[in-house]
Amino acid sequence: MPELYKNHIGGKWVAAKSGKTFENRNPANRNDLIGLFPASGPEDVDKAAGAAKKAFSKWRLVPAPKRGEILYRVGELLRQRKEEIARVMTREMGKILKETRGDIQEGIDTAFYVGSEGRRLFGETTPSELPDKFAMSVRVPIGVCGLITPWNFPMAIPTWKLFPALLCGNTVVLKPAEDTPHTAVKLFEILEEAGVPPGVVNLIHGSGEGAGAALVRHRDVQLVSFTGSSAVGREIAALCGQNLKRVSLEMGGKNAQIVMEDADLKLALDGALWGAFGTTGQRCTATSRLILHQEIKKELTEMLIGQVEKIKIGDGLDETVEMGPLINEAARQKVHDYVQIGKKEGARLLTGGTIYEEGNWIHGHFYRPTVFDRVTPTMRIAQEEIFGPVLSIIEVKSFEEAIEVLNGTPYGLSSSIYTRDVGRTFRALRDIEAGITYINGPTIGAEVHLPFGGVKETGNGHREAGTTVYDIFSEWKSVYIDYSGKLQKAQIDNVE
Ligand code: NAD
Repeated sequence: MPELYKNHIGGKWVAAKSGKTFENRNPANRNDLIGLFPASGPEDVDKAAGAAKKAFSKWRLVPAPKRGEILYRVGELLRQRKEEIARVMTREMGKILKETRGDIQEGIDTAFYVGSEGRRLFGETTPSELPDKFAMSVRVPIGVCGLITPWNFPMAIPTWKLFPALLCGNTVVLKPAEDTPHTAVKLFEILEEAGVPPGVVNLIHGSGEGAGAALVRHRDVQLVSFTGSSAVGREIAALCGQNLKRVSLEMGGKNAQIVMEDADLKLALDGALWGAFGTTGQRCTATSRLILHQEIKKELTEMLIGQVEKIKIGDGLDETVEMGPLINEAARQKVHDYVQIGKKEGARLLTGGTIYEEGNWIHGHFYRPTVFDRVTPTMRIAQEEIFGPVLSIIEVKSFEEAIEVLNGTPYGLSSSIYTRDVGRTFRALRDIEAGITYINGPTIGAEVHLPFGGVKETGNGHREAGTTVYDIFSEWKSVYIDYSGKLQKAQIDNVE
């Protein structure tokens, strides 16, 4: 019998009211059934939102430093169980152990970073324009937050949202992706053990349409924080707009790495390999376009293909494997469809472009790392998010053309340039349209104490992580204390 997992509502593990479940299977081997998870619907979301609303009245009054101390305990427990959870994560979503360990480390870093904010969470004090009057601003919690997360960072992304939400005094309902429910269960085991009070955090499993949409619509959910595809983000934004809910969106990317003729080519090669094929290309920050100056294009392309063809594909639980499977069959089919589109558009396939079904891997969603050459900036494979191990090489003649090509998509998440020229470095920092720019580093590798997010169609103006995340999860209140003992009218009494 497969293991039966539950939702976590009001401090208790409970099944979906309908009794329905869905399967979670290992993408490296579909015969490996991890367990059954509740297929929740609006009635379960309603219970979870109700529990969160009830818990809010007490949690908002817990001093922020105390809320931070609970997060330290969460960080400590995550550290103790890092290896166990990394294995759970690799089994359910396929990325290699080195990367799933990194994903959990991001959660640990966030716990300690955000926990320490409990003793800051600063507002401002400022002189009043009137005598005997005091003025300051303070952060106040918002209420019940609905968090909706994708499968590619099943620990890091939920913790990026959940920990700052809690620190600011909100309560939470999390709806994780249906491909990675097991990692979310592990996180909730830890939150419970660390002493987060019942109802402050609630977990609802299920599909986007069944559980996610109900969470967005729920009248008691005041804030929605979403990370996922731009298509779903648009729908959520429209719903939140109609109901005047606060909404933060982190969505897709079409990230590029530029390599100029003066770059250290070995360094640029290492960056491109890690950026394009890490997490099997399934990162929002993955390098999808490699923009090469014509003078070094031939040399770097040859170096790249030599390395790409050596990438060891397989089950991420094997420490020697370098690239795991795609998350599910639909994702693999999407990648394969884009490869056909690329060929039809006239790009030249240099390597890969086929499903990988050798040896033991017939039951997994494996795909060969793929590189296209002679890609032009307007081709669909250079414009649309493929979300797989497909890299498109675009040749340019100058620095200016490189920046123009990099900026020429609707997205603006991460970006990278390899050059030794200081002037170009600063021009790139100024002119690249992206939320994140790396100089002489790949497009991936964000750190939790810096703002994370993108411009254009990647986001809606918010930044997670850094000090900016608290602006998502708290409201500003301005406070005036008049101790003059008389009515004082601002802009009137003090004007000659
Ligand atoms: P997705 O949009 O399909 O799903 C994301 C989440 O939304 C899941 O939990 C899903 O169940 C839920 N959902 C789906 N439809 C919904 C609806 N109608 N209402 C409410 N919730 C709904 O994305 P995915 O396939 O899980 O993740 C891949 C995408 O996420 C890529 O586009 C990637 O670029 C993006 N992503 C962005 C970032 C970032 O920080 N910018 C980080 C990671 C992933």
